[in-house]
Amino acid sequence: MTPPQIEAFFATLQAANPSPQTELEYTSVFELLTAVLLSAQATDVGVNKATRKLFPVANTPQAILDLGQEGLESYIKTIGLYRSKAKHLMQTCRMLVEQHGGQVPGTREALEALPGVGRKTANVVLNVAFGEPTMAVDTHIFRVGNRTGLAPGKTPLAVELQLMKRVPPAYAVDSHHWLILHGRYVCQARKPLCPRCAVIAYCDYKDKTTAP
Ligand code: SF4
Repeated sequence: MTPPQIEAFFATLQAANPSPQTELEYTSVFELLTAVLLSAQATDVGVNKATRKLFPVANTPQAILDLGQEGLESYIKTIGLYRSKAKHLMQTCRMLVEQHGGQVPGTREALEALPGVGRKTANVVLNVAFGEPTMAVDTHIFRVGNRTGLAPGKTPLAVELQLMKRVPPAYAVDSHHWLILHGRYVCQARKPLCPRCAVIAYCDYKDKTTAP
């Protein structure tokens, strides 16, 4: 994709959805961190179902600690890998209480030091909660980046670094949401919906689908 095509690609996605949002439900930075931590290899819908019950009961690090590991597990057991996620969340809550005054820190270094928080989770929190132009490459962004020619790369980090270089600054903060939503609903894994795709004119994918 050439720079003018990339500009047009994002201008088109922006026009269709000027204010894209994460589909995870949250009302505070801590709730966001918790939801993202629980969402690894799980759907946003599944995470929201669990957190709708958990957050009214416990939505601060201390309240989660007070639930205890088993108490926490009882709220999230419908989510894959819930035991290890509960363990990481308990450890993270302890660190937040002991080292950050119960607040979620706003730097990559401090976020990635939290148990269960990797680069992708830190990128989501930095972007959504702190407005930083980070790029959390999930399975959708990895696919869209490679398929379209926007940001080819063999690993999520390679795609992330390409995107950070190639996305025009005006779109940097929201681009990660546009790409996720585009991958989730249009440029789908098994069969991209090319005939319905708003950015087909700028996409380099050789095997575009046609109407059935
Ligand atoms: S044209 Fe097809 S492959 Fe390209 S971005 Fe759109 S849906 Fe994806």
